[in-house]
Amino acid sequence: MSNNSFLKAGYRTTKERSLLMGKISSRNTKPELIIRKLLFLKGYGYRLHYKMLPGSPDLALTKHKVAIFVNGCFWHYHGCHISHLPKTNSPYWFNKIKRNLLRDKENVRSLLSLGWKVLIIWECSVSGKVKLNEEQLASRIISFINLITNNSQLALGDASA
Ligand SMILES: [Zn+2]
Repeated sequence: MSNNSFLKAGYRTTKERSLLMGKISSRNTKPELIIRKLLFLKGYGYRLHYKMLPGSPDLALTKHKVAIFVNGCFWHYHGCHISHLPKTNSPYWFNKIKRNLLRDKENVRSLLSLGWKVLIIWECSVSGKVKLNEEQLASRIISFINLITNNSQLALGDASA
Protein backbone atom coordinates (compact mmCIF):
# COMPACT_ATOMS: atom_id res chain seq x y z
CA MET A 1 0.00 0.00 0.00
CA SER A 2 1.41 3.40 -0.93
CA ASN A 3 1.70 6.07 1.66
CA ASN A 4 -1.00 8.08 -0.04
CA SER A 5 -3.58 5.33 -0.14
CA PHE A 6 -2.83 4.46 3.47
CA LEU A 7 -3.64 8.03 4.45
CA LYS A 8 -6.83 7.94 2.44
CA ALA A 9 -7.93 4.68 3.96
CA GLY A 10 -7.07 5.95 7.42
CA TYR A 11 -8.91 9.16 6.83
CA ARG A 12 -12.02 7.44 5.59
CA THR A 13 -12.07 5.06 8.50
CA THR A 14 -11.48 7.80 11.03
CA LYS A 15 -14.20 9.90 9.50
CA GLU A 16 -16.67 7.04 9.49
CA ARG A 17 -15.70 6.22 13.00
CA SER A 18 -16.22 9.74 14.23
CA LEU A 19 -19.59 9.88 12.50
CA LEU A 20 -20.49 6.63 14.15
CA MET A 21 -19.06 7.42 17.55
CA GLY A 22 -19.56 11.17 17.69
CA LYS A 23 -22.87 10.83 19.40
CA ILE A 24 -21.48 8.48 21.97
CA SER A 25 -18.62 10.74 23.02
CA SER A 26 -20.80 13.73 23.70
CA ARG A 27 -23.26 14.67 26.41
CA ASN A 28 -26.98 13.98 26.15
CA THR A 29 -26.57 10.67 24.37
CA LYS A 30 -29.51 8.40 23.79
CA PRO A 31 -28.58 6.03 26.66
CA GLU A 32 -28.22 9.05 28.94
CA LEU A 33 -31.67 10.32 27.96
CA ILE A 34 -33.15 6.91 28.72
CA ILE A 35 -31.63 6.92 32.22
CA ARG A 36 -32.79 10.48 32.88
CA LYS A 37 -36.34 9.64 31.88
CA LEU A 38 -36.31 6.54 34.02
CA LEU A 39 -35.11 8.41 37.13
CA PHE A 40 -37.57 11.21 36.51
CA LEU A 41 -40.49 8.77 36.22
CA LYS A 42 -39.44 7.13 39.50
CA GLY A 43 -39.36 10.50 41.19
CA TYR A 44 -35.62 10.99 41.65
CA GLY A 45 -34.18 14.48 41.31
CA TYR A 46 -30.73 14.94 39.82
CA ARG A 47 -28.28 17.52 38.59
CA LEU A 48 -26.98 17.20 35.05
CA HIS A 49 -23.25 17.23 34.19
CA TYR A 50 -22.47 18.32 37.70
CA LYS A 51 -19.22 20.27 37.55
CA MET A 52 -18.83 20.50 41.34
CA LEU A 53 -17.72 16.86 41.38
CA PRO A 54 -14.68 15.09 39.94
CA GLY A 55 -15.35 14.03 36.35
CA SER A 56 -18.59 16.10 36.12
CA PRO A 57 -20.88 13.06 36.46
CA ASP A 58 -23.63 12.88 33.83
CA LEU A 59 -26.17 12.74 36.63
CA ALA A 60 -25.64 13.56 40.29
CA LEU A 61 -28.27 12.69 42.88
CA THR A 62 -27.09 15.16 45.49
CA LYS A 63 -29.64 14.05 48.08
CA HIS A 64 -28.44 10.45 47.94
CA LYS A 65 -24.81 11.24 47.10
CA VAL A 66 -24.91 9.06 44.01
CA ALA A 67 -22.87 9.96 40.93
CA ILE A 68 -23.90 8.34 37.67
CA PHE A 69 -21.80 8.08 34.54
CA VAL A 70 -23.41 6.83 31.36
CA ASN A 71 -20.36 5.62 29.47
CA GLY A 72 -20.04 5.07 25.75
CA CYS A 73 -18.53 1.59 25.39
CA PHE A 74 -16.09 2.64 22.68
CA TRP A 75 -14.74 5.82 24.29
CA HIS A 76 -14.31 4.30 27.72
CA TYR A 77 -13.21 0.93 26.37
CA HIS A 78 -15.70 -1.32 28.04
CA GLY A 79 -14.35 -4.47 26.38
CA CYS A 80 -17.78 -5.59 25.15
CA HIS A 81 -18.90 -6.36 21.59
CA ILE A 82 -19.32 -2.70 20.64
CA SER A 83 -16.09 -1.38 22.12
CA HIS A 84 -13.43 -2.92 19.89
CA LEU A 85 -10.80 -0.64 18.44
CA PRO A 86 -10.71 0.00 14.71
CA LYS A 87 -7.87 -1.81 12.95
CA THR A 88 -6.49 1.29 11.25
CA ASN A 89 -5.09 4.12 13.29
CA SER A 90 -4.92 1.83 16.31
CA PRO A 91 -2.14 3.69 18.19
CA TYR A 92 -4.14 6.90 17.92
CA TRP A 93 -7.31 5.36 19.30
CA PHE A 94 -5.47 3.30 21.84
CA ASN A 95 -3.79 6.37 23.34
CA LYS A 96 -6.95 8.40 23.34
CA ILE A 97 -8.96 5.68 24.99
CA LYS A 98 -6.21 4.84 27.46
CA ARG A 99 -6.30 8.46 28.65
CA ASN A 100 -10.07 8.19 29.10
CA LEU A 101 -9.66 4.98 31.08
CA LEU A 102 -7.10 6.48 33.45
CA ARG A 103 -9.17 9.61 33.95
CA ASP A 104 -12.29 7.53 34.68
CA LYS A 105 -10.45 5.51 37.32
CA GLU A 106 -9.10 8.63 38.97
CA ASN A 107 -12.55 10.25 39.03
CA VAL A 108 -14.15 7.19 40.59
CA ARG A 109 -11.47 7.06 43.26
CA SER A 110 -11.95 10.76 44.10
CA LEU A 111 -15.72 10.44 44.27
CA LEU A 112 -15.53 7.42 46.56
CA SER A 113 -13.12 9.24 48.85
CA LEU A 114 -15.60 12.12 49.05
CA GLY A 115 -18.23 9.65 50.27
CA TRP A 116 -20.19 9.40 47.05
CA LYS A 117 -21.47 6.20 45.55
CA VAL A 118 -20.58 5.68 41.90
CA LEU A 119 -22.79 3.99 39.34
CA ILE A 120 -21.40 3.36 35.89
CA ILE A 121 -24.02 2.53 33.32
CA TRP A 122 -22.47 1.20 30.17
CA GLU A 123 -24.10 2.07 26.89
CA CYS A 124 -24.58 -1.63 26.04
CA SER A 125 -26.76 -2.17 29.12
CA VAL A 126 -29.17 0.48 27.85
CA SER A 127 -29.19 -0.05 24.10
CA GLY A 128 -28.13 -2.74 21.67
CA LYS A 129 -28.48 -6.49 21.55
CA VAL A 130 -27.64 -7.29 25.19
CA LYS A 131 -29.46 -4.44 26.87
CA LEU A 132 -31.48 -4.80 30.04
CA ASN A 133 -35.16 -3.98 29.81
CA GLU A 134 -36.36 -0.81 31.49
CA GLU A 135 -37.76 -2.57 34.55
CA GLN A 136 -34.49 -4.42 35.14
CA LEU A 137 -32.56 -1.19 34.71
CA ALA A 138 -34.86 0.71 37.03
CA SER A 139 -34.77 -1.87 39.80
CA ARG A 140 -30.97 -2.23 39.72
CA ILE A 141 -30.43 1.53 39.67
CA ILE A 142 -32.91 2.22 42.45
CA SER A 143 -31.58 -0.50 44.72
CA PHE A 144 -28.09 0.94 44.26
CA ILE A 145 -29.31 4.46 45.04
CA ASN A 146 -30.88 3.21 48.25
CA LEU A 147 -27.87 1.19 49.42
CA ILE A 148 -26.84 2.42 52.83
CA THR A 149 -23.15 1.64 52.38
CA ASN A 150 -21.00 4.52 51.29
CA ASN A 151 -17.98 4.03 49.08
CA SER A 152 -19.72 1.51 46.90
CA GLN A 153 -19.62 1.31 43.18
CA LEU A 154 -21.56 -0.68 40.64
CA ALA A 155 -21.27 -1.09 36.89
CA LEU A 156 -24.20 -2.13 34.73
CA GLY A 157 -23.21 -3.86 31.50
CA ASP A 158 -21.61 -7.23 30.87
CA ALA A 159 -18.24 -6.83 29.15
CA SER A 160 -18.18 -10.48 28.05
CA ALA A 161 -21.35 -10.05 26.01
ZN1 LIG B 1 -20.33 -2.19 26.62
